[in-house]
Amino acid sequence: MVAEQSFSGRVVAVTGGSRGIGARIAESFEEAGARVVILDRVAPQRSSASARHVETDVSDRASVVAAFASIDEAEGQLDVLVNNAGIQRAGLIGRISYEDWQAVIGTHLTGMFLCCSEAVPRMIGRGGGAIVGISSAAGFVGLPGRGPYCAAKAGIIGLTRALALEVAPSGIRVNAVAPGYTRTELLDQALKDGSQQESWMLERVPLNRLAEPQEIAAVVRFLASDAASFITGQTILADGGWTVQGVSAAPDWLRAT
Ligand code: NDP
Repeated sequence: MVAEQSFSGRVVAVTGGSRGIGARIAESFEEAGARVVILDRVAPQRSSASARHVETDVSDRASVVAAFASIDEAEGQLDVLVNNAGIQRAGLIGRISYEDWQAVIGTHLTGMFLCCSEAVPRMIGRGGGAIVGISSAAGFVGLPGRGPYCAAKAGIIGLTRALALEVAPSGIRVNAVAPGYTRTELLDQALKDGSQQESWMLERVPLNRLAEPQEIAAVVRFLASDAASFITGQTILADGGWTVQGVSAAPDWLRAT
């Protein structure tokens, strides 16, 4: 482990860290020597001596306030916050319910606001820190039927930029990662039951495969580490090239191989 990517002696809070991408993010910080606090509604799928679970609903202010008070009590410090918790609700505008809109915005965007509201004063008190949000390729492109999700993920990019400016003088960096389709248990399940189609996804990904959760975790850990010490306010796309393509397939005479 290069020294710049060591998290020995640091405390990292990961929202939604019990499964999927968040679980891999938590594991990756543990591998780098961090003590990890998983803020999730459900208990983690795996147990670990270097990770503690605090039952938390990131969309609920009282729950978030209590979770950070628990970190004060048990860990006594906070160095990194990863805002990863997320949900999906599909539906066209005009048909999708207000409750579904509220749930998606409340989890992704209000959840990030509430957690950052707690983390920032603590990090200022410690003289620095790093915050990483999980946006999505859907924050850059429109997906029909995913209006609330696209809005929330674009909102995370805006909040990342604004907060980065606010806290830069306090030595706190704020960045985001925007994954493309990533192979989690949930996505595997959706592929199996037919509610998602892998071929449809792969058509949109120039690297022609889904991301593995550890490929997203690696970018998150890099952004939170000292190796990224001059990077703030950025959103890094890890989407296999999805959002940079103007056309889905180049004609033969324009292909590199
Ligand atoms: P999962 O559904 O596999 O995991 C999300 C975790 O967040 C679950 O443990 C879930 O708990 C938890 N969670 C949901 N709502 C809350 C809440 N209000 N408070 C606390 N915890 C909560 O999702 P992924 O791993 O696939 O996604 C992780 C992040 O990555 C999300 O922000 C997602 O939008 C983003 N992303 C995912 C992509 C993908 O292809 N997988 C692509 C681009 C972005 P519970 O079981 O209770 O719901």
